[in-house]
Amino acid sequence: MFMRRLTLFAVLLAASLHGHGFDLQGHRGARGLTPENTLPSFAQALGIGVTTLELDIAITKDGVLVVTHDRALNPDITRGPDGSFIAAPGPLVSSLTYAELGRYDVGRIQPGTAYARQFDKQKALDGTRIPRLAELFALVRKSGNEKVRFAIETKLSPLAPQDTLAPEAFARAVIAAIREAGMASRSSVLSFDWRTLVVIQREAPEIPTVYLSIQRGASDNIGAGIAEDSPWTAGLRYRDYGSVPKMIKAAGGHTWSAFHLDLTAEKVREAQALGLQVLAWTVNEPARMAALLDMGVDGIVSDRPDLLREEMKRRGMALPAATPVAP
Ligand code: MG
Repeated sequence: MFMRRLTLFAVLLAASLHGHGFDLQGHRGARGLTPENTLPSFAQALGIGVTTLELDIAITKDGVLVVTHDRALNPDITRGPDGSFIAAPGPLVSSLTYAELGRYDVGRIQPGTAYARQFDKQKALDGTRIPRLAELFALVRKSGNEKVRFAIETKLSPLAPQDTLAPEAFARAVIAAIREAGMASRSSVLSFDWRTLVVIQREAPEIPTVYLSIQRGASDNIGAGIAEDSPWTAGLRYRDYGSVPKMIKAAGGHTWSAFHLDLTAEKVREAQALGLQVLAWTVNEPARMAALLDMGVDGIVSDRPDLLREEMKRRGMALPAATPVAP
């Protein structure tokens, strides 16, 4: 009896530590269908039914947390007050007040760009503005969805420290906003810049941290096989650990979110054996979703949460509730 109770306790503990079921994440809302990181895109994801809304955070000159992917406004998706797409490089979000930011329209991808070809099913919504994080929390409250989670990405770069706040100040602003909205139990914080995650763990241990990685090309934030230490990994060096999951475990992280092509079934098993959850980003092809589900990942981040949901349904997996809401 005691052993049975102990087993039940262990199962319940694992469930509470790791969340319930598979994590269906809508990337920047539902970027494949609706302009990224906007209230209509999050409303679309809520209407589809996701476990988690993934979003990115920048901070304005006057300290407002806004939901946008880039430290500087992205010319591919941003039009100025005159209605024409802005020139590159766009202004830093940190150089604009929230009122100034409100003059920009992010409701359409610039036609003819590679970005437009990549998201050719995205429906334009002219006049859409960059929202405040507080507005997203309000939208979710309005939807009545009391389960959906928020995966909140801190957007800063150790290679461009002048572009925004320092890691500690950035992380503290995010913690304050989450707590002020009463959403700490429904939020996680993710970053390629692991320095912010260490601050979150120290100052807000109730908020799980998600360590992003990519091990290829110019975006590589791990630096395996490179002599210089990576500036992204909060002082942890790949050569001291020999694997990304071991680095994340040593840093005190909760979840590894890997670029999906970096994952193998062996790496997924290694991370899970260390007690980490494993997420794969950003996966939009149904065949690849199926392959990652077969590998046993704990969640998938997708610009097409509708397609991921279809694949989950085919497999008889539990599906999060859909809660349509007007943005
Ligand atoms: Mg993101």
